[in-house]
Order: sequence, then structure tokens, then C-alpha cells
Amino acid sequence: PKYQSVALIVGVTGIVGNSLAEILPLSDTPGGPWKVYGVARRPRPQWNADHPIEYIQCDVSDPDDTKNKLGDLKDVTHLFYVTWANRVTESENCEINGKMFKNVLDAVIPGSPSLQHVSLQTGRKHYLGPFELYGKVAHDPPFHEDLPRLDAPNFYYTLEDILFSSVEQNNSNRAEQNEKNEKLTWSVHRPGTIFGFSPYSMMNILGALCVYAAICKHEGVPFKFPGSKEAWERYSDCSDADLIAEQHIWAAVDPYAKNEAFNISNGDVFKWKHFWKALAEQFEVEDGGFDEGQGKVSMVEMMKDKGGVWDEIVRENGLVVTKLEEVAVWWFVDMILGGECMLDSMNKSKEHGFLGFRNSKSSLISWVDKMKGYKIVP
Ligand code: NAD
Repeated sequence: PKYQSVALIVGVTGIVGNSLAEILPLSDTPGGPWKVYGVARRPRPQWNADHPIEYIQCDVSDPDDTKNKLGDLKDVTHLFYVTWANRVTESENCEINGKMFKNVLDAVIPGSPSLQHVSLQTGRKHYLGPFELYGKVAHDPPFHEDLPRLDAPNFYYTLEDILFSSVEQNNSNRAEQNEKNEKLTWSVHRPGTIFGFSPYSMMNILGALCVYAAICKHEGVPFKFPGSKEAWERYSDCSDADLIAEQHIWAAVDPYAKNEAFNISNGDVFKWKHFWKALAEQFEVEDGGFDEGQGKVSMVEMMKDKGGVWDEIVRENGLVVTKLEEVAVWWFVDMILGGECMLDSMNKSKEHGFLGFRNSKSSLISWVDKMKGYKIVP
């Protein structure tokens, strides 16, 4: 066959989905040559259209749409699940996210008999607890994969349980039918705050900060750090979207990575006070630093009337037309910069053979360059 592997990326316009769509089709990607299908809910945006993949517009929260569009692909060998839905309470999150993942598995597993591996992305909230209990139930960092589950609702646990039971069910069906000896395998990937490119992401910290910097520049005011003193001064880390994609691909093809969960972070630490300066330089705006007297401020509050200002910036600079609430999710900035970052450990991933890393400063600069290059920000 022309292709060795066939990927289905669910969430292809998201922050990691877009990286997977870029990396998988490359000629030197492990497991390749790859044929790639990519699913997202909305029509294909122009910034995603360069990737040589088959785009499928499908709402995976709708079981019929999912069955119709993903049920007869037939040739999928690897499923990369990099999507989610955000509701108000964690019990609602468990319900909707569980439903979406189950819809996908129920369509793809019977439809694609050559399916070999399911790669599920969750995140560090596995150890921190859900947003609604942020800072209240977390494990003591640095977080490692063997820590027990927290005694709190968490849609990541729901997703894992659906994954484990679907894989087990499928493997016992396969054994009964004696079709193949090959077993379906899984991996779980747990990033922290992601640095990447996606104007459609529900959580893109750098995207939001670039938009904030551009608004400060436009209004002629200093670019002030909105977060807490802890976030400003203490160590933080992040997870580069391309690096996460590389770990997904590694786990999809390497036998030592099968049926395991892995943390994924860049492997270094940084301080926001240093990165703030770098961001200010990128947008030629005055670095307002952290205002001790003022302390933490709410970006949600600060930005609630800036939609029109953003439209003006978009027009004046000939940017790709976006809505402020699409490119900048302010509650997420408030959350991430509001407290101290809790670090994870990359030991397990390295011990299993994934030695990838990123220099977070270079990662920051490269994603800002990419957002400028695609005319998402000025
Ligand atoms: P994202 O928000 O960047 O992208 C989501 C993608 O899914 C988009 O392509 C969107 O169009 C698509 N999508 C949404 N609803 C859909 C639906 N009903 N049908 C079809 N497609 C749909 O995603 P992400 O941030 O990569 O999130 C994946 C996982 O990573 C989540 O569990 C999230 O909690 C976790 N995570 C994210 C971050 C971060 O900083 N973004 C950090 C840690 C963990």
C-alpha cells in the first residue's frame, strides 16, 4: 500500500491537532508515510488548509453525525483524540466529554478493523483536580504518573475509563473472532499549559497574551502583568504543541510506550517576569511589569468591552478576520497566571525512551512568529 499508517485526528484545528496535522504528513515522521484524516466541528479555516490531510467537518457530540462521517472510513490505524468540551460544572464536563469520546470510539472501532492504537490527550488537571476545585485538592508536586486519582470528579478520569473499557472489549471481541492476534493499544498524554498555534483553541495562553499586548500597544498603555506575584516570580513550565504531537506519534509507533500514561512538558522552567519582557519586545509595547500595589487583576473584566478595539486592530493591520472571544480566552489567562504553577516530572517518559524537549523561550518566540506570519496578530 501507498501508506504505512492512517491517522484520524479528532480536534484537528485545535492547539495540538494543528501540530499533528502539520507533522504527521512529513516524509520523515515515524510510522509513515501517513495518510491523515482530520475532524473538527466548523468549516476548515484558511490557516489549517496548507496541511495535506482529508478534512472532515463533523460534530462528535452528535452520535448520528459521528457514525455517518467516521463510521465508514475503514482504513484508520491510529486515532489521536485531542478535543474536549467545556461546561460549567465538572459533572457536566464528565457527561459531555464522555459522550463525545464514546461516540468516536463506537464509530471508529467497528468501522476500522485495522485500528491499532488510540492516543488520548488529557492534562495536568489529572493531578490538580478540575478547574472548579483549583488549588483545593491537588497532589504535592512534582507530579508523576503513578500518583493515585484524586477524590474529586474529573472528566479526564471519565475519558480514561471509557478508553480502558473500549479497548478491553475490543480485544476480547477480536480474540473470540480470532481474526487477528494483534491487540488494540492505548496511550494517555498529560500536558501542562500548552504553547502552540490555534485561533480556535479553547485554551491558548500565548494567543491571548499576544492579543492583549496588541491591544495595549494600540491604546498606548503599558503591557501590565495581570496575574499573581507567585506566577510572576516563581518557576513555571509549559508544553510545546509540536513536542506533544511528537510524543503522541512516538507512543503510536513505539512498543515501549504502549498502554501507559505519560506527562509531557518541555523539560525546563521559566519565570513569567522574564517571558513578559520577551513578549513586550515582540509587540514593541512598554513592559508594564507586575504592579505590586495593584496586585492581580481580572482579564475577563479588563477585556470585556474590547471587542470593537480588536476589530479595529484587525482592520488596520489587514489581519485574518477573527472575533476577540475566539482568539483570546481570558478566563484561561486569569486561571493560569492567577496562582503558582505546579510542575510535573518527565522521568517516566524519558525512561520509556521519549527524550524530546524544547527550550521554552525559543518555543515562545517561534509560536509568536507563527501567529504573526499567519496574520492572526499584528
Ligand atoms: P483545543 O481547544 O485547542 O481544540 C479543540 C479542537 O476540537 C478544535 O479543533 C475544535 O474545533 C474541535 N472540536 C470541539 N468540539 C468539537 C465537536 N463537538 N466535534 C468536533 N470537533 C470539535 O483543544 P486542546 O486544548 O488541545 O484540548 C485537548 C485536551 O488537552 C483537553 O482535554 C484539554 O483539557 C487538554 N489540555 C489543554 C491545555 C491547553 O493549554 N490548551 C493544557 C493542558 C491540557
